[in-house]
Amino acid sequence: MSSFVAHPRPAPKKRNLAKVPFVEVFAGRLQGVVSSGSSGDRVYVSLIQAGTGNFYCSTNNNRPCGGLRGSPCKHLEALVTNAIAQYGAERVCRAMGVPEDTASAWGIVNALGGSAQKVEAGEVFARFLDYLRYVELPSDQQARPEMAWFVTG
Ligand SMILES: [Zn+2]
Repeated sequence: MSSFVAHPRPAPKKRNLAKVPFVEVFAGRLQGVVSSGSSGDRVYVSLIQAGTGNFYCSTNNNRPCGGLRGSPCKHLEALVTNAIAQYGAERVCRAMGVPEDTASAWGIVNALGGSAQKVEAGEVFARFLDYLRYVELPSDQQARPEMAWFVTG
């Protein structure tokens, strides 16, 4: 019987919440929202597709990232670095289908042979906004599984 007891997920490790407020593996992509290094109120939507390794980065208003010139930009690097900080290299690499020793933005893209392919930022940003709605719910003592990504170490 004890094998049916649900074990709590291990607590997420330290992720830089200010830099990467949202990161997830969803729909075969590692994707998330990364704060701009230069402007406090601008954010970038960055993602890497598992399988193809195709990647993209733009502002939430679909302005292509200036750092994306055929190679992963600093936002994609921050996304991967913080995904690894939270989920561990093993989980991130397994989700992307690459060996664990390729656990970096460049490593994953190179291992998969991907290139920059446009994806509408809204696809990812809408999911971020959905999650943010939970922040505005009245707090109680119950853990919300949907908010596990938001917990800091
Ligand atoms: Zn970027």
